[in-house]
Amino acid sequence: TPESRKLHAVLLSSPGMGHIIPIIELGKRLVAHHSFYVTVFVAGAASQLPASESKIIEAAMMNPKLFDLIQLPPVDISGLVDPDATVVARLCVMMREARPAFKAALSALAVCPDVLILDLFSTEHFIIGDELRIPKFVYVASNAWFLALKLYSPTLDKLVEGEYVDQPMPLEIPGCRVVRPEDVVDPMLDRSNQQYREYLRMATELPMGDGILLNIWEDLQPQTLAALRDERLLGRIARVPIYPVGPLIRPLEPVGPNTRELFDWLDRQPSESVIFVSFGSGGTLSADQLTELAWGLELSRQRFIWVLRAPTIKSGDGSFFDSGNGSTDMLSFLPDGFVGRTQGIGLLIPHWAPQVNILAHRAVGGFLSHCGWSSTLESIVNGVPMIAWPLYAEQRMNATLLAEEIGVAICPKVLPSKKTVGREEIRCLVRRIMVDEEGNAARKKVKELQKSSQEALCKGGSSYECLWKLREDCKARLLEEPTKK
Ligand code: UDP
Repeated sequence: TPESRKLHAVLLSSPGMGHIIPIIELGKRLVAHHSFYVTVFVAGAASQLPASESKIIEAAMMNPKLFDLIQLPPVDISGLVDPDATVVARLCVMMREARPAFKAALSALAVCPDVLILDLFSTEHFIIGDELRIPKFVYVASNAWFLALKLYSPTLDKLVEGEYVDQPMPLEIPGCRVVRPEDVVDPMLDRSNQQYREYLRMATELPMGDGILLNIWEDLQPQTLAALRDERLLGRIARVPIYPVGPLIRPLEPVGPNTRELFDWLDRQPSESVIFVSFGSGGTLSADQLTELAWGLELSRQRFIWVLRAPTIKSGDGSFFDSGNGSTDMLSFLPDGFVGRTQGIGLLIPHWAPQVNILAHRAVGGFLSHCGWSSTLESIVNGVPMIAWPLYAEQRMNATLLAEEIGVAICPKVLPSKKTVGREEIRCLVRRIMVDEEGNAARKKVKELQKSSQEALCKGGSSYECLWKLREDCKARLLEEPTKK
């Protein structure tokens, strides 16, 4: 019976490191701390994961290998989306097309699944859970405010006329912080776009599952969580159980010969003296912005590590589906003489850096980040205050949340996705977070949260107990299905 055996959780991720990493970390947690048996599936964009991604996934899975990770066969979506379709639209179509392969893969498993845990882009796979008569959950590897906006979007769709970004007043979600029109998530930027329709569909499907897991802990967003659970405020959508199970982030990577030099350099720097600059797995800057950032860093006279990517026409998610092949000469995009003048003060790393190890190093004292949720958690867990530099997806909301509610970040005056941030402002931002009194307040706050995040994950802590509750809830659901298996 489900009471006496290990439950088999099948996790499904959409492609992209920002999606695969949180799913893997959840899988590890379920196996290592909560007696689940786990299989992870990744729906693939390409036939093979790029080498850099395979390496990271391998590293994440090893020592010890806790579960199988199976890549579903690639799907061809070329005829199904516009050539200029957005990342969200592509992901949705990809996941839809992957459904038959996922179903076939499930029936080929040696051990039948007891529960499905899907990522945000996979709500259309609920039906497979229904067919198998097993509970199905969604892991939203982000925060509660983002979830509140998402769940409330179908209501806003009825209430709000015209584009959200053109509204004169902030968008109201009962019981939650208001959302400034310019902060809405990417799919809400243009209501006539395919991705908006997909977004609304996902938002409508989400509460139909057995629960939603969030990558936060209770003490990070208590008020928003309370609202999400209050039917008087949010009606029917508040009935879906919410499980804050985080922060689930990657552990340190083993340091290989390629990164030895980087960590030797960090070892020689004073404590909390280096700012780390990185825009996640897919973020890119425009050529102008790249130049201004280089100047800003140089003028700040602070030590830095900068993960450098070739510029794109506009700042955004330019390298989401592109793993970078390292063939471009990155340095040619920087101001003349920059490398020479910052020698010994700054390190440039092309394309991808061991971010968790860098943030965990005692020499790192600030993070200029695109505010992807994993990056945000990695910063908080390591007690590093941030300069919030949102680019795409839900990052504008994350930035506002971090600066105005949680108090661990400062922001440029105008959103970087709207206007190039100039060198002088960047110089000030870096100095504010690294040197000035204001940085101290954010640093103090982030250290407090670092502690509360650790407590949440320990035995007896809120996130730890929440995953046990998930297990108990799964068992109860399975017992309600007497004909299963
Ligand atoms: N990451 C990394 N090195 C890099 C860039 C990103 O290790 O040079 C990792 C980062 O540590 C995080 C993930 O990739 O775990 C990015 O996820 P996030 O949610 O921050 O942003 P996304 O890439 O989804 O926009």
